[in-house]
Amino acid sequence: MEMASSRSDVTAQGYTQEDNTVVGMGATVEGWRMFVFPAIASRKLTKAKARFVEETPNDPSWRLLHRLADAAFLPLRLAMRRVFESFRDAVPRMLLAEHVMSGLQEGTVRMVENVWQAAGLPALAEALRSAIQALALQAAQATALPAVTKQDIVVVFDVADPEALAAIEQYAGTRIVAIDATTREAIRDIITQAFTSGQSLTGQIADIAQLVGLTPTQAAAMARFREGLQASGISGKRIQELIAQRAKAWHLQRAETIARTETINSVMLGQEERWKQAARDGLLDVTRLRRFWVVTPDDRLCPVCATIPGMNLQGVALEEPFQTSRGPIQRPTAHPSCRCALNSRII
Ligand SMILES: [Zn+2]
Repeated sequence: MEMASSRSDVTAQGYTQEDNTVVGMGATVEGWRMFVFPAIASRKLTKAKARFVEETPNDPSWRLLHRLADAAFLPLRLAMRRVFESFRDAVPRMLLAEHVMSGLQEGTVRMVENVWQAAGLPALAEALRSAIQALALQAAQATALPAVTKQDIVVVFDVADPEALAAIEQYAGTRIVAIDATTREAIRDIITQAFTSGQSLTGQIADIAQLVGLTPTQAAAMARFREGLQASGISGKRIQELIAQRAKAWHLQRAETIARTETINSVMLGQEERWKQAARDGLLDVTRLRRFWVVTPDDRLCPVCATIPGMNLQGVALEEPFQTSRGPIQRPTAHPSCRCALNSRII
């Protein structure tokens, strides 16, 4: 079910779409195959790990970038959790009840969307933009250049560089737009599901009040969860308790996925901006720079990423995307919660 509703397409810029939170296994067809055929998965993972060991000594600076990303993870998760929970809590219960009891499905959608527009979206934009910018600039400053032409001067990253700042701002904008779109899509799904769920009006109101802020994938999974509970004859009151419990966990899970993905995206963006600035300053010969995809040897290594190093054995140029089983990607991440990194080498 997750496969059908997962929106993990790669955009033209090479970013993965929004935080399509994985509920259970099998977020992708590839991931699903690997889940069913673990032998293939483990062979590919072994190859990828071998490649990782081979690549690492050349440029260990990605470890520093990962440490920066890790340090920013908990604060960003907290900030994102606050965004979605505050939005959920900001929906006025009395007004919601009036709309639902009057059977105004479209009016309910508009009312909740207005709350998101007024309270949720500005908070999201503010928190995400500042986190991405701070982390990308930190990462740019921490990135070592693979080679400089003037070895005798100390080359520091200029954090006021308008081109770098514009690129970071543009990236943050695409993420805010994507998360906004996903949140709105889910609002519509959640309200439609509540109106057609055959529950009491109280149940419909409670569902909407508890679930807004989740993703469409999570909302669909919750609808299936409720159907299962209803079929098993559990009381309506108990069903609402279980749904409320699960909704709370999934708001946190969504915040966690965004934080995991955006911390890595931000440090990778900062690294790239460092290279681009050095190239503009004549300190780095980009025609000789090759980038290599590094899979991290931890338990979050996924089958999609495991195949990328092998698909780009010669590395790629600075502005050349990596070939992947999901199409071309400019830099990690390749999917939500991806932990991959890049090595650079001068040829
Ligand atoms: Zn990855």
